Amino acid sequence: KDIGEGERIFSVQLVPYGHQQKLLLSRDITRWERLESMRRDFIANVSHELRTPLTVMKGFLETLTDARESDDRLYRRSMELMTEQAERMQRLVEDLLMLSRLEDSGYPLREEPIDVAALVRSVLMDAEALNRGQHRLHSDMARTWIHGSRDELRSAFSNLLSNAIRYTPPGGEIHVTWKLEDGKPVFAVKDNGEGIAPEHVPRLTERFYRVDRSRSRSTGGTGLGLAIVKHVLQRHQAHLEIDSEPNKGSTFSCVFPAARITPASATKAEITP
Ligand code: ADP
Repeated sequence: KDIGEGERIFSVQLVPYGHQQKLLLSRDITRWERLESMRRDFIANVSHELRTPLTVMKGFLETLTDARESDDRLYRRSMELMTEQAERMQRLVEDLLMLSRLEDSGYPLREEPIDVAALVRSVLMDAEALNRGQHRLHSDMARTWIHGSRDELRSAFSNLLSNAIRYTPPGGEIHVTWKLEDGKPVFAVKDNGEGIAPEHVPRLTERFYRVDRSRSRSTGGTGLGLAIVKHVLQRHQAHLEIDSEPNKGSTFSCVFPAARITPASATKAEITP
């Protein structure tokens, strides 16, 4: 059972105390129960996510085993669909590993000065494979460099971009920007896609939270993308802002502290043509 806001759970124990007396010990275990319930939900979600592709693959393997004679088309089609399912499981396992590293406070942030404009250009190039010309991708990038982890930021930015691509109907416009706002560096992805109703927004960065379960699975998402983004930003003392309206579109902005700007920004900007 979910523990409601303001509700508390106690464990109560009677222990012998002196001669013929008992002591009533009570302990507040609300926090422990909450963590326990999150752990159970997480395991149930992961199991469910892995079970679906495994069931599909097993089905194809049985069909192929039972097929009387060799049917090239059936064979090839089954192999393609099984590869798709294996890739889905691979994405899920990779995201789970990444998330567990990000959640480990002992895992070091490998910081270096990053030319964000160059990083974003390479993220945009990789995203073309997913976009396949469906949407127009625009970009506008400042020359500001920041201190951070290149791999982690690449992962956060590419998750936001791939969401914009996946949740925008074909023919959409996607704007990617990197600029200074009130002295703070901000990376933003704006789409004119399906948007998100306000009641869902606060929960989007929870692991496996989806507005539309079946729809988001069919687009190939793992349900962990925004949880990864949130943790990467926290590790950089940055935060995510979500501005969205159903049927109009969404803007996801990563706001970094000004202190992350590297002095390299100035010098490199001067020598960059
Ligand atoms: P998923 O793999 O399901 O996309 P995410 O954690 O990346 O997982 O996103 C969580 C949910 O947030 C998605 O299932 C989707 O409902 C919603 N969402 C994320 N990005 C967008 C977007 N750009 N437009 C509309 N909905 C979005």
